[in-house]
Parts: sequence; structure tokens; C-alpha cells
Amino acid sequence: MNGEVKCSKSECDKFTAINELAKRRGFFWSSFEIYGGSGGFVTYGPLGTRLKQNVEAKLRELFVKQIGIYEMESSVIAPGKVFEASGHVDHFKEPMVECQNCHSRFRADHLLEEKGISSAEAEKMTLQEIGQEIERHGAVCPDCGGKFGETQRYLTMFETTIGPYSGSVGYGRPEAAQNIFVEFNRLYTAARERLPFGVIQIGHALRNEISPRQGLIRLREFTISDLEFFFDPEEPSCKLLSEVENEVLPILLCETRLKECEDTTDLTVREALDRKIICSEWQAFFMAMAKKLLVSLGVPANKQRVIEKLTWEKAHYSSQSFDQEVLVDRWGWVEVSGHAYRTDYDLTCHMKASGVDMSVYKEYVNPVEKEELVVKPIMAKLGPVYKGEAAKVAALLDKVPAQEVSDAMQKDGFIIVDRYTVKADQVDVGKQKTIVHGTRFVPHVVEPSFGSDRLFYVALEYAYGIKEDRVVLSFPRSIAPIQIGIYPLMSKDGLDDKARVVQRMLAKEGFMVEFDETGSIGRRYARSDEAGVQLGITVDYDSFKDETVTIRDRDSWQQVRTPIKDLPELMHYYFQGKLNFKDLGRLIES
Ligand SMILES: [Zn+2]
Repeated sequence: MNGEVKCSKSECDKFTAINELAKRRGFFWSSFEIYGGSGGFVTYGPLGTRLKQNVEAKLRELFVKQIGIYEMESSVIAPGKVFEASGHVDHFKEPMVECQNCHSRFRADHLLEEKGISSAEAEKMTLQEIGQEIERHGAVCPDCGGKFGETQRYLTMFETTIGPYSGSVGYGRPEAAQNIFVEFNRLYTAARERLPFGVIQIGHALRNEISPRQGLIRLREFTISDLEFFFDPEEPSCKLLSEVENEVLPILLCETRLKECEDTTDLTVREALDRKIICSEWQAFFMAMAKKLLVSLGVPANKQRVIEKLTWEKAHYSSQSFDQEVLVDRWGWVEVSGHAYRTDYDLTCHMKASGVDMSVYKEYVNPVEKEELVVKPIMAKLGPVYKGEAAKVAALLDKVPAQEVSDAMQKDGFIIVDRYTVKADQVDVGKQKTIVHGTRFVPHVVEPSFGSDRLFYVALEYAYGIKEDRVVLSFPRSIAPIQIGIYPLMSKDGLDDKARVVQRMLAKEGFMVEFDETGSIGRRYARSDEAGVQLGITVDYDSFKDETVTIRDRDSWQQVRTPIKDLPELMHYYFQGKLNFKDLGRLIES
């Protein structure tokens, strides 16, 4: 984060401007500054914490409230076995090079990206090939210009020990999904043993990034929102699809990417499914919901796109993956969510490693009649031949698949089990009908996964604007960190007391309000615009006469005059999106 850089507003890029504003106004800054800082850790200040909560509230509104996704919260540290079983210990690695001079370490694929080799290409390469490319392009240490040593794979999970025994390895979770998988049985019970159902976990995750240098875009400790949606692969249809089927997704298709072209193809959700570009209806549904989420955070649809991941780019657990990207000023297209079809990979891995059954039972609507081949030994004939061993021979025969016995009898007229020969006339081979009432299977999973810090950053960047040489953060009204600023015209003559009454009234109604009495009213408005305060209520001398106040809109700077007693109701309707600003009172002509 480059917060120290001073720049005039029009000259520097938004990333620099936002980081400077964020630090100054208390949205966020690099942690541990008094000790010189530590890359990849961020502290959210008062405004930032509010904004982040509001961004996460949007996630909850769209997924938990509207779709009925369950929420859970579990631990950040997990025993090593969890991430051994999930495949992370083997796969969660990045290529790294170390400067032989200053010993700084860098992501090898990021160095190659600067040399024009895309991350998609780098991901295909072996360590040796990456090393050769670094050599060929003459990539040197960005810090000191030194030469790099050999390329290595580096495990980007934080490793620790659980308790005082060094043998008891634990890892900081690099994602929140595994908690959901390992608790599947209890969650399934809580969901009343019905599919489909989904569980979201919004919480901190840790990735020991090699050299994070992109502010909020790449952090070592961050907030992830992983939603795991479980369904029966034999009943994959999404009952909510009609709500989103006409939503357009601009997809950068694999076939286009392989031509080194960046053109997206606009497809409706329905078309993408019909053309089998997206295989799972639920995955398509969540991709459409992700687009809606970003729009609700203030990112227009035309600044979003979807990337279809190439085979070698997909995570080890995924059979089909898409990334949702948002265009940002400094970094270009940045991933804000990933959409993976994880199939039954994770549950199966944990079943194998733990020995615990996590399959679910499905009762057939109509029981199925099945005809089975059955082999029955005829004891009256086996007995005289094998005497005391006859029962043992029958038991051995029972272990051989019926089809195998039947084939042998037809072909040879006998079968040898262990060292006993059983002849065709000593068994009855026949068909038997049975009624099957249900079956067990491992649910399939589609996962939308959001990076909360990135959602926060793009919301901030898209809110950022300049009006008459002043910064205005025009957040959508539902995520403004402070909803209402309360301003006495002067802090004297009882104006401040009256303003405090209005403040208390609105605070008790549940609004996020802020009282500000310092400086001229113009300066206070400017300060509040820069913090993204949605509305400003000013108490002036007329307020004593007619019990009215002025309400000011952050974005249009228009003002209306409104009775104090009407404020609670009007504010509720306004922040629910049911009233526009001009409905709040009598417009004051400026
Ligand atoms: Zn160096």
C-alpha cells in the first residue's frame, strides 16, 4: 500500500488515491506500522469496518436470506490431517525464486507475467521450464537487480503445531470450505437430511503469500466467503433458475483464450447451459447471483466479466471453474469470486481419510424391482461328496460373484473354488427378483467463493469520484458506512442540543448516524462526502420555529426541508430503497 505518496487527485491512479484516502479517513491501512509493517496484513479502521460489514451483509442478504443458505462458523486452525486429505498439502504451492544477492523471494509466475508470459501459460510449465523462461527473459531481482537461484515450489499454507508437541502439525486454513466438508454429517442433519442445501462460511483465511504487493487485492490474512452447495447429481436441476435465466454473462471462453484473444461472448444463463458451456444449473445460478451481488455493491455490469478456466488452471478439486472479474484502475481485471464444480471430490477424500461415511441415503419415489442372478448350492448333492467340508465349500462358493459361477458352469460344467471342484449339477443357478427401496450416494458440490476484501476494494473504487475537485464516495445507499450525518448549524444557541435530540432519535431507530459539529457547515459537508455519508441533516435556527430540518443528498448536493417528526419513517423507506431523495421533503432551490 502506497499511502505515503502524495498526489494531486487528477494525476495519480485510483489505487494510490484510494489508499491515501483510506489511511487518512480510517477505511484501512497496512498493519503493524509502528514496527515497520509486515506485507499482506491489513487493519480496517472505523469506516472500513462498517463498510466491510455492509458488504458482507449484502452477501448474507442475497444468499442466506433470499435463498436460505445456512451459515456456519468454525476454526481457522485445523489439524494437518484435514489438509492432507483435501489435497492442499500436496497442491497448495506456488513457484518461487530467491534472489541470490539480497535473498528476497518472489512469485516466479508473477515475474514472468511482467515479461509478457500470462499466468495461464506459466501454470502449464514445469519448475524447470519456469527457470528457463526467467533466465531467457533476463528477469532479475526487482529490489536489488541480483540474479535468481533455482525455482522451487513453496507451500503457501501457514504451518503451526497444535499444543506443545511438535509432531502435532496444524495449518491455518487457506479457504473456509474444508470446515464445511468435514462437518458435513452434522450440517446435513441440521438441514433435516434433505438435498439440495447450501452452507456458507464467512471468515478469516490465511495464505502465506510469497511477496504480496497489491494492497487489499493480495493479503496473507483475509476474509473469504465460501459457499458449498450440496445436491444430488441425479437431480441437478435448479428450481430458482427461472429467476436468472435471462441474465447475461459476458464470458471469456476457453476457445477464445486459446486464440490469445480477450473478447467476451455475451450469453444468457439459459444459453450458457444449453450450449453446455456451464454444466451445472446451480453453478450457473450462483454465477448470475454473483453478478447481481457486484451490481448491488456499485460495480456496473459492463465492468464485470467471467473467465472460463483452462484445464491446467483449475484447482485440484474442480471439474469446471469460472472466475468472476472486475475491471479496476491499477490492476486491470481482478478476480472477485471463483465458481468451481467440486463434484464429490472433497467429501470422498474426507471419507477415505477419516473412515467416516458421509454418503446420504435416497429413497426412491417408486421402489425399483431388480432381477438378480443367484447361485444356491444343493446341499443334498454337495454333502455326500464333501462330507464335513460341505458347509465350508458352500460358504466359499457364496463369495464368488454369481455371474462368474454361472459362466463357468455353462462353459466348463464346473468351477474350482479354493481347491474344491463344484459341478454344475451341485448348484442351482437362477434369477431372483428383489425390491430396492433406495440407494446411498455422495452429494455433489458447486462452490461460489468470494474474497470479501476484494469486494470491499472494488466497492470503494467504484464509489470513488471527483466532483468540483472534491472526493465524493458515492456508495450505493445500502452499503454507505454511515447513513446519516447530523449537523447543528452552529455549536451554540441550543442548536447542538436540538441536533443531539435528532441524533438520538435516529440512532434508536437503528440508523448508523454520526454527529459532527466541528468547522463550517461547508467543511463538514465536504468531510462527509469524502467518507461516503449518504445523507446530512442540518439543524438551524428555523428548526426552532417550525420543527423542520434540512436533508442534504451526498451525490446531487440537493437539499430538502422536512418535519423532524417525519424523519424516522422517511429514513426507513429511503434506506429500504422505497423512496427517492426528492420524496423526502420540499426541495430547496439553490
Ligand atoms: Zn535482490
